[in-house]
Amino acid sequence: MKNTKVILANRPKGEIEDTNFDIKTEELKEIKEGEILIEIHDISLDPAIRGWMNEGTTYIKGIEIGAVVRTFSAGKIIQSKNPKFKEGDYVSGLLGAQNYCISNGEGLSHINISGSKLSHHLGILGMPGMTAYFGLLKSGEPVSGDVVYISGAAGIVGSTVGQIAKIKGCTVIGSAGSDAKCKFLLEECGFDYAINYKTEDIDQQLKKYAPNGVHIYYDNVGGPTLDIALLNLARGARVVICGAISQYNDMANIYGPKNYMKIVTARGKMNGIIVFDYVEQWPSAVKEIAEWINDGQIKVKEHTVLGLENFSKTLQMLYTGENFGKLILNIHS
Ligand code: NAP
Repeated sequence: MKNTKVILANRPKGEIEDTNFDIKTEELKEIKEGEILIEIHDISLDPAIRGWMNEGTTYIKGIEIGAVVRTFSAGKIIQSKNPKFKEGDYVSGLLGAQNYCISNGEGLSHINISGSKLSHHLGILGMPGMTAYFGLLKSGEPVSGDVVYISGAAGIVGSTVGQIAKIKGCTVIGSAGSDAKCKFLLEECGFDYAINYKTEDIDQQLKKYAPNGVHIYYDNVGGPTLDIALLNLARGARVVICGAISQYNDMANIYGPKNYMKIVTARGKMNGIIVFDYVEQWPSAVKEIAEWINDGQIKVKEHTVLGLENFSKTLQMLYTGENFGKLILNIHS
């Protein structure tokens, strides 16, 4: 049996290019005692992959040149020599951008797919959904009546943060890069206000929608947007630093916030969140989010592209705003 995999050929110097990757096909090894063979069905394209393509270690080691590109993926066990995993079971984990993965089971999560799509376990019920849940609830500490502003709001993290904030009784403002994304936030996700940051002035709109300031700013994009949000904080505000996608292609020259003294005058706080710090609490969060989906309180949007050969082009969509919803590469149905 042959395995096709996407390899990191070299590191991007700025934007991701197709030449950063190679696609290789090779014979699969036999699995050994304690191992399992997983047929990968869905690959999650996440903004963090750009950071993992850099050299060095941040919260996780950079991908080695020549290694399979690290991705969260989900699939079905087709051979098992590990008593903890049965053939036919579904699992997810850092299985990489490839058709098959041999694993000793470490770090894998069992997936119960009854009543949910497999791909949801890479999005709303997977790492990004957990980021939204713990980022908002643990770092944002929402209280009913708070005004929450979310940038990158139409992505899986942002749209989930906003919908959980609505469940918690907050007023929710989101910014996103197109009218269609803003319409989705208002009409499907129940946001109170949406700002198209490409055609509207965020500062002006925030002053209109949150005249008494923003209690929680959930930052997915960083850069000048963070600066504008800082100018609009209410007293006691919490700023959740979740990501900075506007900066990922040039981290050596990252735009730092100029208005950080607003944290002082607002008596606010600014927290970073890394979703992996909450792994032990993921199962209870998955259960709660699944209930919210089932009773219609949370809507999920996915953007699916087919075929491993489209890995590079699909990944690049995240940094141009072409994706609309959780970006999934489906390579096997
Ligand atoms: P996502 O929002 O779908 O990310 C892609 C979107 O980002 C694009 O569609 C685009 O939307 C927006 N974007 C791209 N370039 C931009 C720019 N220059 N300025 C403003 N917006 C830009 O992805 P996600 O999975 O939901 O992740 C959202 C954020 O959470 C990312 O920053 C990610 O790194 C972070 N994250 C953090 C953790 C953690 O543990 N801290 C875990 C997971 C994710 P528009 O069309 O609206 O511009």
